[in-house]
Amino acid sequence: MLKTLGYLAKFRDWRRLGLGVVSGIALTSAIAAWASLSVLLFILAIGAGAAFGALIAFSYSVLHAARKGHEQNIRRDLALNNMIQGLCMFDGRNRLVVWNKQYEDMYALGPHIRRNMSIAELLAARHAAGMLPYDPVQYETNMNAALRRGHVFTTETEMADGRTISVVNQPTKEGGWVATHEDITVRKRSDRELDNTRAFLDMIVENVPSPIIVKDAEDLRYLLVNRATETYFGVDRTNIIGKKTIDILPKGIVTTILSEDRKAIDTGEVGYQGEHGVVTPGNGTRIVTATRLPVKQSDGKPQYLITVIHDITERKRSEQKIAHLAHHDALTDLPNRTAFNECIDATIVLAAQENESFGVLCLDLDRFKAVNDVFGHPIGDALLREVASRLEQVCQGAFVARVGGDEFTIITPTGQQPEAAEALARRLSAAFESDINIDSHQMRVGITVGVALYPQDGADAETLIANADAALSRAKSEARGSIRFFEVAMDKQLREKHVLQQDLRKAVEQNELALHYMPQANMDGKITGFEALARWHHPRHGLVPPDVFIPLAEESGMIGALGEWVLRTACREAASWPEKLHVAVNLSPVQFQHGDLPSLVHQVLLDTGLSPARLELEITEGVLIGDFTRAVAMLRRLKNMGVRVAMDDFGTGYSSLSYLQSFPFDKIKIDRAFVCNLAHSQQSATIIRAVIALSRGLGVPVVAEGVETEAQRQFLAEEGCDAIQGYLVGRPMPIEGYAELVGRVPSRPAISLTARA
Ligand code: C2E
Ligand code: MG
Ligand code: MG
Repeated sequence: MLKTLGYLAKFRDWRRLGLGVVSGIALTSAIAAWASLSVLLFILAIGAGAAFGALIAFSYSVLHAARKGHEQNIRRDLALNNMIQGLCMFDGRNRLVVWNKQYEDMYALGPHIRRNMSIAELLAARHAAGMLPYDPVQYETNMNAALRRGHVFTTETEMADGRTISVVNQPTKEGGWVATHEDITVRKRSDRELDNTRAFLDMIVENVPSPIIVKDAEDLRYLLVNRATETYFGVDRTNIIGKKTIDILPKGIVTTILSEDRKAIDTGEVGYQGEHGVVTPGNGTRIVTATRLPVKQSDGKPQYLITVIHDITERKRSEQKIAHLAHHDALTDLPNRTAFNECIDATIVLAAQENESFGVLCLDLDRFKAVNDVFGHPIGDALLREVASRLEQVCQGAFVARVGGDEFTIITPTGQQPEAAEALARRLSAAFESDINIDSHQMRVGITVGVALYPQDGADAETLIANADAALSRAKSEARGSIRFFEVAMDKQLREKHVLQQDLRKAVEQNELALHYMPQANMDGKITGFEALARWHHPRHGLVPPDVFIPLAEESGMIGALGEWVLRTACREAASWPEKLHVAVNLSPVQFQHGDLPSLVHQVLLDTGLSPARLELEITEGVLIGDFTRAVAMLRRLKNMGVRVAMDDFGTGYSSLSYLQSFPFDKIKIDRAFVCNLAHSQQSATIIRAVIALSRGLGVPVVAEGVETEAQRQFLAEEGCDAIQGYLVGRPMPIEGYAELVGRVPSRPAISLTARA
């Protein structure tokens, strides 16, 4: 009934009503006319007809409207329930009027949802079911506040079960609102995954150690740079982003960079730019390579240009440093032998092209070893640095190199020779005439110079160096501090020397050397042992003195093999003697520099069976010059084996007392030069006295070498010398000559020393 009244209230179909009334009147008029009713009845009948017509029309309208509403409802429900989102609609009194299945299911509302329930009830029901993770009252208050102002109220809610629901509450004109609820869990997750992936990629780009730059392909502005780019440019990214290359880098390089950028964008291909320098705003000049990668949009148009920079500055610097080290001497920073060889080759090429001449100077410092010795190595090093700097000052334009301990070489600029080389050599000599002050030590070191000229003294580097060296050797042998130019005769000597060196090599390899033995005796004439002396009988030159071939062996490195042969032969020989006399073997300083000498001696003693107490090793001061610590350590090892060590040729060289103190020698041998001069030099007698006194003070026995006369023996005996060696006792000869002394043949009655002389 109420529904009918409601329809009545809303009824607006006047046309249909009119048609019903007119049709009712027409029908009843026709019936009344046919029935010939009275006027009164006729009027009543017409009225009833009109009312009946209106009723029929109204009923039809109601029925029609109901059917239409029903159809609409079906369609609406169909539409609502086919939505992806949950939907609910509230009227102006906050009552639920419409909702769909999705909404119901989304919050598992089932039996709790009903039409006309208030929003408060609905929210409370959801909250109770764990489907609203907010305070329902607060939620409603916030929502109402927004909706009342005509605003859309949206929320994105993380549900306890892990879903994410997006809610949009849209106010309606009628005063209510429509709410859509969408499950965006999947979308959210993929958004999050995308974000994570992006963040991960950002992190990689940010932390890649190479500078990465992204520019806009159109205007080439910087869009993105990573941390390495900030370091590379030496400025913060806020000073880079949005700017153009010209705003950041100097003009000179910008043109090249932009042209490379454009090339990569225009061709659409990866571009590689080789080593080039970039003056950065805050990180100096960097040496880099760059790889450009254009990125296109989906329509194929260029969008970005990615540039990856490879900063190779540090690598280049260390390469340069290594190259510098490879070509320079660490102590003086002068070019080294390698650099010298390269320079001389280049100078030869140049001089040959220009038909020019130049000179090669070999320099040797005089008295350097004495300085090293007296003042120690740090002062020696400082002296070498000072020498290097003086040489550079004097040379001005000439190429100076340090090629060995105290050896320097100079290549003069091309010019008139020999005048230019001679003038330079004289200036160099003059530069060392004054004292050098190092650490408040005054010292003077002269230089000796040998010169060879291109092209007359040699057309290749090897010959020129060898000839300058030959001139230096000649200068040193003549007078320290002198200057000598190469002469052809020197070349001949040099060649002869090389030939002799080759011959010596063969002699060592083929066991062609021999040992002679020279006896040593007490002052009363009793033979105590022999010194083994190497002999080389050259097939053409006859006997070559050891003073000649030992230095040759030292120079060519053959001394190792030669020295071992001498040691082994002498030890084997001595081990075979019935008399337990000692044998003395000379050692070269070079044998201490290479290899493990104490181990060799140990092995030889084991191999030959000679008692260590019978072996005496003779060394000169040369052993202790150079690597003093290593030499002393080796001597100690030898001494610990029970082998004796003698200081040979004492009185020549530096005769440094510190050497005698640094090691407990078993014997000091006075050089024969002093004994030889005894007759006509008071000085020699004084020196011999001093050495004997010194040795006595140190408790070390003294042997005088080169004793040829009884007078000499007499003098030495009176001065308290302990032993003698010389022609007076016996000459060096093959051991067969001393067969009797070593007990190989029965001894004859003793011969007096005087008679022998
Ligand atoms: P050195 O070790 O001082 O040997 C002594 C040298 O003085 C020997 O000369 C010897 O013959 C000579 N001599 C000794 N007494 C007299 C004398 O009364 N009158 C004269 N006129 N000469 C005398 P040699 O054999 O020519 O040796 C010279 C140097 O060669 C040796 O001096 C030694 O330094 C070196 N040498 C010889 N053999 C070897 C060796 O096997 N190895 C090494 N490293 N050096 C050796
Ligand atoms: Mg000797
Ligand atoms: Mg000697």
